[in-house]
Amino acid sequence: MTREFRVSTQERYQLVDVTAEVEEIVGESGIESGLCLVFVPHSTAAIILTENEEGLKKDWLAVLKKLVSGLDFLHDRIDDNADSHILSGLLGQGKVLPIEDGELIRGTWQKIFLVELDGPKNRRVTVKLLSC
Ligand code: ZN
Repeated sequence: MTREFRVSTQERYQLVDVTAEVEEIVGESGIESGLCLVFVPHSTAAIILTENEEGLKKDWLAVLKKLVSGLDFLHDRIDDNADSHILSGLLGQGKVLPIEDGELIRGTWQKIFLVELDGPKNRRVTVKLLSC
């Protein structure tokens, strides 16, 4: 089964915790054992797994900005968002998590985040579940 939800972002770079939305979909599916793909169909956003702590979220944004600062991107001549595309590719546009006993297997501090890299935008998050 495939489900989709939307996330509205407010900042150019922003981390949004979508764990609750994904876990609700997993719960509704009734799947006891399987795989859960969380994917953004966008080339300027990403999905990461990390802790939801205010300092760490700022640390993430500082690292991302530093990775692309001071570079002269050719793509910026077209639409001024080469940094967004490159960070999206580096972080990855999806993650797969295991489902066991009807729940995602994840660590206590391992939350699912949409990473906005070219906001503000209205983003789609696709969740594909496979029973196996
Ligand atoms: Zn572009």
